[in-house]
Amino acid sequence: MKYRKMGSLDWEVSALGFGCMRLPSRRFNRLRADAKESIRIIRRGIDLGINYIDTAWPYHFGESERIVGQALQDGYRERVHLVTKLPMFAVRRTEDFDRFLNAQMAKLQTDHLDAYLLHSMNRGQFEKVKRLGLMEKMEEAREQGRIRHMGFSFHDTLPVFTEIVDHYDWDLAQIQYNYMDTAIQATTDGLSYAHSKGIAVVVMEPLKGGRLADPPEEALEIMRSATHERSPVDWALQFLWNRPEVAVVLSGMGSQQMVDENCASADRSGIGSLSAQDEQVISRLAEVYRKRLLVPCTACRYCLPCPAGVNIPQNFAILNNVSMEDSRLQRWMARRGYKRLSGSKEELDKERANGNASLCVQCRQCVEKCPQEIDIPTELTKVHAILGRGAKIADHYEQR
Ligand code: SF4
Ligand code: SF4
Repeated sequence: MKYRKMGSLDWEVSALGFGCMRLPSRRFNRLRADAKESIRIIRRGIDLGINYIDTAWPYHFGESERIVGQALQDGYRERVHLVTKLPMFAVRRTEDFDRFLNAQMAKLQTDHLDAYLLHSMNRGQFEKVKRLGLMEKMEEAREQGRIRHMGFSFHDTLPVFTEIVDHYDWDLAQIQYNYMDTAIQATTDGLSYAHSKGIAVVVMEPLKGGRLADPPEEALEIMRSATHERSPVDWALQFLWNRPEVAVVLSGMGSQQMVDENCASADRSGIGSLSAQDEQVISRLAEVYRKRLLVPCTACRYCLPCPAGVNIPQNFAILNNVSMEDSRLQRWMARRGYKRLSGSKEELDKERANGNASLCVQCRQCVEKCPQEIDIPTELTKVHAILGRGAKIADHYEQR
C-alpha cells in the first residue's frame, strides 16, 4: 500500500480508502448487506494496508455503520482512521446533532470518530448548518474528544463549494471526482482550491458508480492502444492518484476480488506517475463516456424508497447500458432487463422495489434527494418511452 499526505493533518493515509456504501449484498435481497462477508472483506482491506474507513448513517439503510463497528473489533479499530457523517437530510433541530452522533458511535462501537463530516452538503444544507448552529455543535464534540477532525461531503456546484470551504477552517472535504466529472460538482478548480487551503481532499465516486469499470468497446479499444496495459478500473484510479491534490480515494468495494485488485492498483500509484500519453488516453476515454452516458446516475440509492415502488437507479442503469453497448445482441440483452422489472402495482415486490419507469406518478419526492441533481421523473418518462415503447434514444437525448 502507498501512503499519502492528508492535507494539514499528521496522518499517513492509505492511497485507497474503504467506502462502505456498496458492501456485498445478500443473495436473496440485494438491497441488504451480507454482514459476514462484509466484515471479512473490510478486514481483508485493512490487512492489505487500508487505514481509512468511510461510512455514513444511510448506507445500506443504516446497516453499514453497524457492520463497520463489528468489522473493527479484535484490534482493527486501532489500525484505521474511522470516518462517518451527520445525516443532514434528517437533521431538523440542533439537538439532532447529539442524537445522531451518539447513536452512530454506539453502532460503530467506538468512543471517538477520527473525523466527522456533514453529509452531502449543498446550498440548502449549508443554510441549515448556519441556522441550527451545527458548526458550534461540531466544535463542542471535538472539545469533548468525541470527534477528532471536522469536514463535509459535497454535492453541488463550484460557487457553493468555495463558499463552504471559506466558511470554516476545515480538515477534510469529500468530493465527487473522476475523469468524467472534472467539470461538474466541485470541479478540478474546487479540488485545487481546497488543497491550496490545506484541506485534505477525499475523493468519492472514482468509478462513477461503477460505470467506468465497465466500458463500451470504443473505450476498450482506446485503452488497448496505450503503451501501458491497465484495467478500466486501474485507469480511473491512477488518474486520481496522479494528482497531488488528492489525499485518499474511496472505493465502494463489494467483493474480495475488488479489494485485492484495488489494493494492487494503490501499490502502483504515485503523484505524477502518468505520462503525457496516458493523460491523452484518459481524455479520449472521458469523451467516449460523455457522448454515451445518458443519465449521470451513480446508483447511490439516496432517492429510494420511491412510494410507487420504482427502482430508480436500476431503470437508469438499464438505459445507460443500452446506450453503452455496441452490438445489437448486447443492446437487446440490456433491454430485456427492463422487461424483468414490474410494470404494474399488483406485481410489485413488497420487499424490494422492482418497478419500472411506467409506475412513476410524478410526485417528485425523490428529486431533492438526488445528489446528482437529476430530474428523476422527467428522465423516467424518457426511460419508459425508449425501453417500454420502443422510441429512439436520439428522439430524447441530444448526445446520440
Ligand atoms: S417522482 Fe416518480 S420516481 Fe420519484 S418518488 Fe415520485 S413516483 Fe417515485
Ligand atoms: S437517481 Fe440520483 S439519488 Fe437516485 S441512485 Fe441515481 S444518483 Fe443516486
